[in-house]
Amino acid sequence: MVTVGVLGLQGAVSEHVRSIEACGAKAVVVKKVEQLEDIDGLILPGGESTTMRRLIDRYGFMEPLKSFAASGKPLFGTCAGLILLAKEVVGYENPHLGLMDVTVERNSFGRQVDSFEADLTIKGLDKPFVGVFIRAPHVVKVGEGVEVLAEHDGRIVAAREGQFLGCSFHPELTDDHRFTELFINMVNIAVAV
Ligand code: GLN
Repeated sequence: MVTVGVLGLQGAVSEHVRSIEACGAKAVVVKKVEQLEDIDGLILPGGESTTMRRLIDRYGFMEPLKSFAASGKPLFGTCAGLILLAKEVVGYENPHLGLMDVTVERNSFGRQVDSFEADLTIKGLDKPFVGVFIRAPHVVKVGEGVEVLAEHDGRIVAAREGQFLGCSFHPELTDDHRFTELFINMVNIAVAV
């Protein structure tokens, strides 16, 4: 059984734990840098990217997270987590972790509609998936090695680049665990090689 961590500094942490367990993997809430050694893959949850970034700096997670990625282990960013993963954030001079070759824009679905649900067609899933969007970012641009997995209203809302998976919506907030399962499969494969 693989062990998947959820960065537990802020945001929708317990929902991801529930979803990981529903997929039959072991979940760990990562609050200390040392815990990164015990996990095979890591989820960066939704929440508030600026707050999470501040906590990443305060608790010394920046370099350890980069080394975790450099070791080849899979990372999955949802919503604010995707913003943390991105190599570029529109309107910001510097990225946060700057790992995944995508450019994201924050709060990009308009201010009147803060949150909504949409049926998404996602590559790798046979039936539509209900995406829950909460002040969600979208992917403006992808690099060459990035595979677009889903779009909504002509905007990219899910993508994968090798060990990195990212989505604009909150896959952990429904009882449909298929998108989390895609990530668990990535972790399973990474552990096997
Ligand atoms: N708007 C948030 C941000 O920019 C993301 C929202 C979310 O994660 N649900 O960080």
